[in-house]
Amino acid sequence: MSFWKGIIGASFTPAGFDQYCHLLHWLAWRPSFIVLHNTSVPTLAARPKGLTKDHILGLERYYRDEQHWSAGPHLFVDDRQIWVFTPLTVSGVHSPSWNKLALGIEMLGEYQTEPFNSGRGAQVHANAVAAVAPLSAALGLEPATMRMHKEDPLTSHKSCPGKHVGKAAFLKEVQALLAVRHGGEHLAVPVA
Ligand SMILES: [Zn+2]
Repeated sequence: MSFWKGIIGASFTPAGFDQYCHLLHWLAWRPSFIVLHNTSVPTLAARPKGLTKDHILGLERYYRDEQHWSAGPHLFVDDRQIWVFTPLTVSGVHSPSWNKLALGIEMLGEYQTEPFNSGRGAQVHANAVAAVAPLSAALGLEPATMRMHKEDPLTSHKSCPGKHVGKAAFLKEVQALLAVRHGGEHLAVPVA
């Protein structure tokens, strides 16, 4: 049984999350990159109003009391908001090879089957880009260092975050947002 690191349990708009990131101080632990996930279960269709505070507290019980993990992913992004789960300044549990190295961002949905570029999936997509960009800026991370969970050689989640999530297109959107919102803070390098 591990010591549970706790959760923040607060939700942000993209603009609010950007401000929040700039107030964080990574003193004890500093992530080297970001890992992108989809929840798979629940699907987006199974959460018609996105994730509520009760859903977030249910996820805390799941990771803490059933999985007996020390933490979970850092963010849950849905079509309405960005939820901060595990504090961004401590390591989480989300990807076996990379827990000590990386932030984990979960997108609500199953993007093997659900659309990522239309409907509610497009809103999750936009909010995920809006989460990755300020974290990259605040940490000085080159966006191209971001990895998909399925790139972890030790994971059993071989499709996460889903085939509809194109990495190159996603990174271009992150860099475009960085250029607009964080000009001068972060060098935008074109993604090959
Ligand atoms: Zn994953």
